[in-house]
Amino acid sequence: MGRVAVVGAGTMGNGIAHVFAQHGWDVALLDVAPAPLVAAAATIRANLDRQIKKGTLTAEQRDAALSRISTGTDLKAVAGSELVVEAASESEPVKFALFSELDRLATPGAILASNTSSISITALGARTSRPESVIGMHFMNPVPVMVLVEIIRGHATSDETARRVAAIARELGKTPVEVSDYPGFVSNRVLMPMINEAAFCLMEGVAPAEAIDTVMKLGMNHPIGPLALADLIGLDTCLSILEVLHRGLGDDKYRPCPLLKRMVAAGQLGRKSGRGFHDYTAGKGA
Ligand code: NAD
Repeated sequence: MGRVAVVGAGTMGNGIAHVFAQHGWDVALLDVAPAPLVAAAATIRANLDRQIKKGTLTAEQRDAALSRISTGTDLKAVAGSELVVEAASESEPVKFALFSELDRLATPGAILASNTSSISITALGARTSRPESVIGMHFMNPVPVMVLVEIIRGHATSDETARRVAAIARELGKTPVEVSDYPGFVSNRVLMPMINEAAFCLMEGVAPAEAIDTVMKLGMNHPIGPLALADLIGLDTCLSILEVLHRGLGDDKYRPCPLLKRMVAAGQLGRKSGRGFHDYTAGKGA
């Protein structure tokens, strides 16, 4: 197996590092500060332990996976990896700056993949001298559990890059689906309007959060309600994606719900902050 650098150790970065390490890859997990790295290492260990309890992993395999992950705050550690998966915060200025930096530091010929939910892969590629090697590798949350990887080809992404990334996704036990680079790709263009509409229902008093989620779970056979799913994704991430859809497609049907904006302003970001549409403090939860 090869060596991968995962940049950003939040909700998605820890899951991506986990899955690569479990499948024999050496992983450099990087973030801007030590705190998210410490939290990510603890989360990866807890999730591997859960797999042991379920009987899908042995203690030896857990230890081997953990020993393949190194963490750090110096982006220079991307050198020597054949693949970089960027999973930093969903912000254009952050990712634009990161991609020109990654282009400078990564091994020539290495693939630069982004886990972005909505930011243009073409625009990220244009920040580099290697747009043919820039691609979207959109893992789903929680990464160790979800099978889909949406592969997004930018305007200049080469066939070879797309083939290699799809092959890597299969090696990780995932199913790649290739889509074109339009705002929100397929997954979030379809998902986010539903989450946004659920937030409008809550804001307008159509029903409380529990009731909205129950209608969609029991009535539409969704495994999780849209508001609980928004809490899992992170309300700040949902808001960023809706803003990209609104701006990128120019249609007011993507206008972010004012209640969602207000909750993000208040720091109620969902599970990661302990409170979102539902309350996750003191063992409560949707
Ligand atoms: P998060 O807020 O949990 O974590 C982001 C991490 O990136 C933080 O630890 C932050 O410190 C770090 N970071 C910020 N700037 C950085 C930089 N310059 N260099 C290195 N690290 C940096 O966010 P997340 O939910 O893990 O989302 C990460 C990416 O994955 C986003 O692009 C998001 O759209 C995408 N995504 C999220 C989900 C989801 O359900 N949360 C699903 C699919 C894709």
